[in-house]
Amino acid sequence: MKKEQELNQLRHSTAHLLAHAITELYPNTKLTIGPATPEGFFYDFLPETNFKEDDLPKIETKMREIADRKLPIEHKQIPKEQARKLYKDNPFKLELIDQIEGDTVGMAQQGDFFDLCKGGHVEHTGLLKNFTLLGISGSYWRADREGQALQRIAGTAFFTPKELRAYEKRRQEALKYDHRKLGRELDLFSFHEAGPGFPFFHPKGKMVINLLTNYLRTLLEKDDYQEIDTPLMLSDELWKQSGHYDHYRDSMYFSQMDERAYAIKPMNCPGAILIYKERPRSYRELPMKLAEFGLVHRYELSGVLHGLFRARTFTIDDAHIFCTPDQIEAEVLKVVQMTFQVLKRFGFDDITIGVSTKPENAMGDDSLWEKATSALKNALEQAKVPYQVYEGEGAFYGPKIEFRIKDSMGREWQCGTVQVDFFLPKNFNLEYVSPAGIKERPVIIHRAIYGSLERFFAILLEHYKGKLPFFIAPIQIKILTITDEQKPYAMQLLEKIKAHGYRATIDESSDPINGKIKIAQQQQVPWMLILGPKEAENNTIALRYRDGKQEFGITLDQLLEKATKANQ
Ligand SMILES: [Zn+2]
Ligand SMILES: [Zn+2]
Repeated sequence: MKKEQELNQLRHSTAHLLAHAITELYPNTKLTIGPATPEGFFYDFLPETNFKEDDLPKIETKMREIADRKLPIEHKQIPKEQARKLYKDNPFKLELIDQIEGDTVGMAQQGDFFDLCKGGHVEHTGLLKNFTLLGISGSYWRADREGQALQRIAGTAFFTPKELRAYEKRRQEALKYDHRKLGRELDLFSFHEAGPGFPFFHPKGKMVINLLTNYLRTLLEKDDYQEIDTPLMLSDELWKQSGHYDHYRDSMYFSQMDERAYAIKPMNCPGAILIYKERPRSYRELPMKLAEFGLVHRYELSGVLHGLFRARTFTIDDAHIFCTPDQIEAEVLKVVQMTFQVLKRFGFDDITIGVSTKPENAMGDDSLWEKATSALKNALEQAKVPYQVYEGEGAFYGPKIEFRIKDSMGREWQCGTVQVDFFLPKNFNLEYVSPAGIKERPVIIHRAIYGSLERFFAILLEHYKGKLPFFIAPIQIKILTITDEQKPYAMQLLEKIKAHGYRATIDESSDPINGKIKIAQQQQVPWMLILGPKEAENNTIALRYRDGKQEFGITLDQLLEKATKANQ
């Protein structure tokens, strides 16, 4: 924890250094805020003329020059009146000053540069050595898209050159294996001007999405889920009742038809609830587990769109578990087990879990909160998985579990969630008849494992750097003949391999074998079957893997045996 705090101080001090450099280079720039972030830091500016990426080296050089002055960084409280005078031409800082309680505000000072700030810095600018600027992007004052548009310069800083180098290497790798780039190169998906933020899945990309879906379906079936499908568009009133209208309106898409207002669903919950409410329910039907691969639409600012990581439409592998409070623990345990099974299958072994508990303005009575929260913790303990507790960070309507995975490049991703909900059952007046014949209120557990199918696909692509493992590769096997004479043998093989359920194809071109190998390699096909005169004559196969290793004289049975193993 201490290390993290020190790193934040280092990064926040570097943000001041950036603002200092900007002030010297472009004195008419208005400063706003410059916090440390998990990745580094940023500072949001209102420049006189927009900064360009080309300006970054110059700004960085100025930062190093100021750092070399070894200016002590001082922080003190000053009267608000004095601060208002200092910032008389900066409406952003004036707004910030007004929001601070008390008569004084904190001010950081290094040389003749000063900045409104709560404090927490390194001693002098000379300690700021291992930093780099990462880029410029658009932002808004107070992240409000109706507000003033600003420019954000982001950077990062570390204690040692070694840490900075490691970060830069990771970043270059991440750029090299950006899923948007891989999606194009591997012909998986694309984006078009006609639908900004709405992905188009090509046949091979859709294949992977289907594989993810079908794999989960096999698990859902074993665990007594029932799959449903609910409309993409539902009436406004429903979203008002569910509370989504109040909380999500800014990111919802609307439509008007027959003088009635509709909204495209940003979440799947109300649909599942209407199915539950279709008729009276008995305790015998609980837990009732309704799963839905539900396509949702949420508006996002164009500046934050990021391929499949942040798109305007995606499919949640959603489920709503309607159950009694007593059933929460057993159901959550099953969800935790299924989540681990899924994440491990896809090669994510580093999984961290957080439990968020009752916040201050919570709804529902204390005993219900207590019961649900201890049910979540007990389930995690029974599953023998360590977890962290985030006190008071739950939603107002119930406690939740969040799963985070770490990928091959050391980045963390939040995927699955398990959210207990007391609010919607009350809001929609959900009931079941208890064994004593009394009407009782169920709770809802909202849960997702992948989170978003599309985003999980993108995480997988980057995690594996485009080399999807055999079991999830859209094309698993590609047959390449050395000459056209082996084509009949190749067709025979293809048919048999496909009959066993593998995704195989054949290179129909008349390219020389090296050309065919190169193309299959670029397509990241895990297995290539190379057939020459010798193979055709002996009914064997030369198996070439993606990494170039080869095995000769393999029979079809041997190949199928290997494939069964690789598919597990
Ligand atoms: Zn500061
Ligand atoms: Zn839900």
